[in-house]
Amino acid sequence: MSKVVTLKAFFEEARSGRLTGIRCGRCGEIAIPPKEFCPACQERAWEPVPLDGHGTIASFTVIRVPPRGRAEEAPYAVAVVKLDEGVSLLGRILDIPLDALKVGMPVRFRPLIRDEQTVVAFGPSQ
Ligand SMILES: [Zn+2]
Repeated sequence: MSKVVTLKAFFEEARSGRLTGIRCGRCGEIAIPPKEFCPACQERAWEPVPLDGHGTIASFTVIRVPPRGRAEEAPYAVAVVKLDEGVSLLGRILDIPLDALKVGMPVRFRPLIRDEQTVVAFGPSQ
């Protein structure tokens, strides 16, 4: 993988089932998806860091009125997932019943692939 993690590279990796964050070479902050400057120290000294994709649900929202063109997918949930590496990421929830969702539930990254588009999603941890 190249040294520079762009959003494009992030989604290409995600499409293959790999979650990649970036770690600030100055202060150690991890960011995902990639940002231009470190939100903690404003440096631009990113190094790619592979993430294992395991985490827990920090919060979630059930979407009942979806964006236009996605009506057939509702209702569905989006969650903020705190990864084991300590960084949080927003993603769609797949294959977990909405009424079973709980804060603290373990989940695992997996890509949701729609044609050319790759969406960050999380499914059951097992
Ligand atoms: Zn930093």
